[in-house]
Amino acid sequence: MQTKLFINGQFVDASAGSKFAVLNPYDNSRICDVAEARAEDVDIAVDAAAKAQKTWRRSDPSQRGRLLLKLADAIEANGEDLIQLESRDTGHPVRDARKLDLPRTAACFRYFGGMADKFEGFLPPVYPGYINYVTREPVGVVGQIVPWNFPLMFTSWKMAPALAAGNAIVIKPAELTPLSTLRIAELMHEVGFPPGVVNVVPGYGHTAGARLAEHPDVKKIAFTGSTPTGRRIVQASASNLKKVQLELGGKGPNIVFADASIPAAVAGSAWAIFHNQGQACIAGSRLILHERIADEFLERFIALAKSIRLGNPLDEDTEMGPLTSKQHQERVLNFVKVAREEGGEILLGGKAPEREDLVKGCFVEPTIVRAKLTDSVNQEEVFGPFVTVTTFSDDDEALALANGVKYGLGSGLWTSNLSRAHRMAREINAGMVWINSYKVVHPGSPFGGVGESGYGREMGFEAMLEYTQPKSVWVNIDAQVAPHYQR
Ligand code: NAD
Repeated sequence: MQTKLFINGQFVDASAGSKFAVLNPYDNSRICDVAEARAEDVDIAVDAAAKAQKTWRRSDPSQRGRLLLKLADAIEANGEDLIQLESRDTGHPVRDARKLDLPRTAACFRYFGGMADKFEGFLPPVYPGYINYVTREPVGVVGQIVPWNFPLMFTSWKMAPALAAGNAIVIKPAELTPLSTLRIAELMHEVGFPPGVVNVVPGYGHTAGARLAEHPDVKKIAFTGSTPTGRRIVQASASNLKKVQLELGGKGPNIVFADASIPAAVAGSAWAIFHNQGQACIAGSRLILHERIADEFLERFIALAKSIRLGNPLDEDTEMGPLTSKQHQERVLNFVKVAREEGGEILLGGKAPEREDLVKGCFVEPTIVRAKLTDSVNQEEVFGPFVTVTTFSDDDEALALANGVKYGLGSGLWTSNLSRAHRMAREINAGMVWINSYKVVHPGSPFGGVGESGYGREMGFEAMLEYTQPKSVWVNIDAQVAPHYQR
């Protein structure tokens, strides 16, 4: 297990020798201590990245692609270790990490490995006598800051397009979950990424993260995390007007129409909120049910939620693990209190489980709360296994409920009426809409939000645009003829 900073191709201690503890949220036992980067370490990493980028940006794109493809293979070859590491660090059930996190991580590196030498510029038709060609240039040194909910997968979403496009990276994993990112760095080193092209600086947000966001030699900051931190990043970025990409919070509406297949909608909606203990920005955290099917839906949904198997994430049978930290468990449980105070009705859960094998961990029972749109639990991101329920009587009311929040990231709708599906998809204020499904992601499809869910997109062609900037080059075909002041 790597526990040091990764700078300029080497694992090193922090300058001040500082460290922080990494805990297993299943029982709050200490997994290890990890070197804690502070501002001075970030500066060293940025210097290394700036030097490495000079060569990396000019490298053959197909060679960059090859390294990313080799990395994807190495991730798969070391898959079981990565799965166990991620599960212990975050609380993800291993069955989910194996089925989703790991393959999605490898797929992302592979997709952008393939993209590296297929990302073309263009040649706009301009005035006679001129050729104008437009290339996409890498931005330079990119700072990347990721949260703790999907550290392995988000590391790939951030790193892969940036590297394919010729940028060098300084990435700061979340202080709660740095281990899989450090392991990826080790694999990158093994497959031959040049020193300095990727640097990993685990540390706290207010020190290492803040320095990265304000650093004058960092030309872009790509951030995934909460909306309040996103605002701070934007302020810090003003120091050198760096590019900013923000993937922030969400409050996903999940609408079930009366003509939906109820069994499919129940199963899909449970997945939408309870997968990864609800710690997902795109979670379907607001169930919006047509009043005609609401009772039947809820009866089945509650029965399904009750049957979800909580347990040690390392057990193959476990379907729901702990939240990622004690502090976060307390935050989620506090929302139950707030919901009650504001008149919400707790239909299920609302507490930590009392089972003996779970009391030491950061567990919260699947929680279902009937609440008004204006209640805090319908407006604030809870980020736990906590779903609200509201009902509607017609499409306009469904839409008003769906769009009645400041966020606009993931959203879902369940219906067998094709024209209703497309009409609603057009009107919902969100970066992503899932019709008769939820939480499907693919490296080829752009991922991101609108409103206070942020701006910019990860994945797909869009991500390559995010990590590059256009350069327009003008060529006067007749070099002997001056265009102006001809004498
Ligand atoms: P957070 O904002 O507290 O932390 C995210 C990261 O930012 C961490 O690495 C943290 O150390 C760092 N950070 C904190 N303060 C900082 C500062 N002042 N300057 C620079 N960096 C700083 O968020 P969190 O609680 O760790 O993560 C959960 C949040 O992430 C939720 O709001 C969730 O919706 C959001 N999220 C969004 C997406 C998306 O794609 N839109 C995906 C996953 C999670």
